[in-house]
Amino acid sequence: MTSLLDSLFALVTYDLGIDLGTTNTLILVKGKGVMIREPSVVARRKKSKELLAVGTPAKKMIGKTPQLIEVIRPLRDGVIADFDATEAMLRHYIGEVHQSRGLLPKIPKPKVVVGIPSGVTEVERRAVQDACFSAGARQAFLIEEPMAAAIGVGLPVANPEGMLIVDIGGGTTEIAIISLSGIVVERCLRVAGDEMDQAIIAFARLKHSLLLGEATAEEIKINLGSAIPLGGKKQMVARGRDLGNGLPKSIKFETDEVREAIAPVIRQIVDQLTGLLEETPPELISDIVARGVTLCGGGSQIAGLDKLIAEETKMPVWVADDPLSAVVRGCGKLLDNPLLLARVRVTSGLK
Ligand code: ADP
Ligand code: MG
Repeated sequence: MTSLLDSLFALVTYDLGIDLGTTNTLILVKGKGVMIREPSVVARRKKSKELLAVGTPAKKMIGKTPQLIEVIRPLRDGVIADFDATEAMLRHYIGEVHQSRGLLPKIPKPKVVVGIPSGVTEVERRAVQDACFSAGARQAFLIEEPMAAAIGVGLPVANPEGMLIVDIGGGTTEIAIISLSGIVVERCLRVAGDEMDQAIIAFARLKHSLLLGEATAEEIKINLGSAIPLGGKKQMVARGRDLGNGLPKSIKFETDEVREAIAPVIRQIVDQLTGLLEETPPELISDIVARGVTLCGGGSQIAGLDKLIAEETKMPVWVADDPLSAVVRGCGKLLDNPLLLARVRVTSGLK
């Protein structure tokens, strides 16, 4: 009976892989590929909580809203900071996928596989699961992001072999050593790309007496940021507010100063990685030396970060192709592989 129902569902439904990231939400539709790649941002009326915009249009409102409107990042630090906003965002995106497939409203209820940060508590897991159900899912499986990322980049996670994956996102960096479909040792820190933006803001304030917005700081990081000195210098003019007289001011930023500004953040990430390696059983270390360290997540694209990590760990390091979609691709692969899903999921549930 269940299998008959399942096959009926399969005809009308569309199973989804979801990466509910602190910065970006990605949704993959089984058999179709990644269909949604949007910032995890929601704009709503403060009082009524009425939803005004989700994703890119909401991100454009950051720092520009009138008093009555708030723009929030519901998952900012890697946890569900705002349940209602998370649910509204999921519902919105699931609805979008739905519409784009020309399906009748209400009928299909997808099975979803969602990546969650490895450090989340039981209560937070329940919150993600509930958000999926109230956003319309029929069945929700949660899997830890480093595991999803490892599967996404094609590591053979079921092998009895140590594999090291580092996912540097916006709000969190997750470092995990995987073997036999499980996480052997891990660290989840709340230091990642956002913290680099904040370091650039702090630097601009101190050095140039300039108040920068978060979006501008991120742009500076992406354009000029690097983990080690690289040949050639770039510059970028950024606009902010002069802290002295409150008026607009433009400053030219250089590669060297941006590298110095973000260096302490990068140092924290590298130190956590080397610290984790010290705790790792020697057999696993020799596997990792042979296979190399895999980097993914948006923050792994900082120029020269792979070289710095290779120098510090004395191991080969590579950045995954399309590092931002590693987690969602892993969730997608798990939709096709129920056996592996049963082994790696942390929770599953039917509505
Ligand atoms: P999350 O999984 O937390 O949503 P992502 O993996 O989507 O995070 O990565 C988002 C982070 O990556 C942001 O801090 C963003 O500024 C940063 N990022 C994106 N592209 C680049 C780039 N080319 N260079 C450096 N950082 C980047
Ligand atoms: Mg992520």
